[in-house]
Amino acid sequence: MVRAIVGANWGDEGKGKITDMLARESDIIIRFQGGSNAGHTIINNYGKFALHLLPSGVFYNHTTSIIGNGVALNIPYLIQEIQSLVERGVPKPKILVSDRAQILMPYHVLFDTYEEARLAGKSFGSTKSGIAPFYSDKYAKIGIQVSELFDDQVIREKVMRVCEQKNVLLEHLYHKPLLDPEELIKTCREYRDMIEPYVCDVSAYLHQAIKEGKTILLEGQLGSLKDPDHGIYPMVTSSSTLAAYGAIGAGIPPYEIKDIITVVKAYSSAVGAGAFVSEIFGDEADELRHRGGDGGEYGATTGRPRRMGWFDAVATRYGCRIQGATEVAFTVLDVLGYLDEIPVCVGYEIDGQVTKDFPTTVKLEKAKPVYTTLPGWKCDIRGIKNYEDLPENCRKYIEFVEQEIGVPITMVSNGPERDDIIYRKVK
Ligand code: GDP
Repeated sequence: MVRAIVGANWGDEGKGKITDMLARESDIIIRFQGGSNAGHTIINNYGKFALHLLPSGVFYNHTTSIIGNGVALNIPYLIQEIQSLVERGVPKPKILVSDRAQILMPYHVLFDTYEEARLAGKSFGSTKSGIAPFYSDKYAKIGIQVSELFDDQVIREKVMRVCEQKNVLLEHLYHKPLLDPEELIKTCREYRDMIEPYVCDVSAYLHQAIKEGKTILLEGQLGSLKDPDHGIYPMVTSSSTLAAYGAIGAGIPPYEIKDIITVVKAYSSAVGAGAFVSEIFGDEADELRHRGGDGGEYGATTGRPRRMGWFDAVATRYGCRIQGATEVAFTVLDVLGYLDEIPVCVGYEIDGQVTKDFPTTVKLEKAKPVYTTLPGWKCDIRGIKNYEDLPENCRKYIEFVEQEIGVPITMVSNGPERDDIIYRKVK
């Protein structure tokens, strides 16, 4: 049985917490896209962790954590992340890395940094983790696959080709120091030795695991609106954030993904540039940012303050549809307990017309939010375990959102910890 846990919004919906929670009853947890550019915050009995590359299932003894072929694999980063867990008392997790994963090289980080600087005011708000240059190289067929590290001749040829092309850009576009092929070959050897113990034919491993009836989780990074095809292009990430891509980025048949748990946050937050229709500013935004998430809405990778907004039903309904959501986990609802009234964006006004359909980016830039205001519940809902025990206005908020997005909300998260969850039976 394969389940995907993905985001319906701009990321930071709380997928890490839901994955950590569901990993308890799972055998295998897989990252299938992205890299170390976004973080998942997890709080459990070992402490508070910000994971970037490892799947959020690494805290259990019984799970196998997999880095699928779709991931941008930063090898020193992975090794360091494993070490930092072990240093804090987490048992050494069982980790497998796909032999088809490609390697994020130090020059990808450099190019990301140089390009953001070159674009200056028009930049994408990249985390400068090298993700866009990495995926560009992958599809331009000059990426380096893990399997290639084990053949010196292949590596030498690949590195020469990379340097030939990159050094032209470094010299004439960025005016920066050139790459030294011998240095890069040495780096590749180091990477080979670091990664060797983890390398695996992941799709074959998963084929067998599915046959044996194992429970498998696919953990997505970011959310629908950051997908390069279906998101707010070009203010998107460089790999698909959709559950469907889980099949490709892990190497399993698409029909094996039976359940698509789409994580939806009770209000909006976003990092990086791009249209954000229900964005709020000033004191109103500062208060929500300050109270939001666990200890405030600041990027897990960069520490940047996140942009804040009210719940956007237009974007979320679209985000759920494009994920193929079978159920929704509704998160960080506890944070809204301070508000007298809660605005919800239920439509976009574009050129004088109100629509409930999420548009393409050019139109999105012109959209103005149409709000409905719901009454707040004015109390702390943390610690509540049964849906019926939630205040009436809180249930009304959940049910209103459910009606708007058209997908059953089966889980309500009312705190950052593993057990802060209300399971809901949907009629
Ligand atoms: P992810 O990238 O989707 O895994 O999300 P992040 O981990 O970056 O952001 C979610 C933040 O909200 C983290 O700080 C979590 O600890 C926190 N969080 C998750 N669920 C809840 C919740 O229900 N209530 C509160 N207050 N915080 C939550």
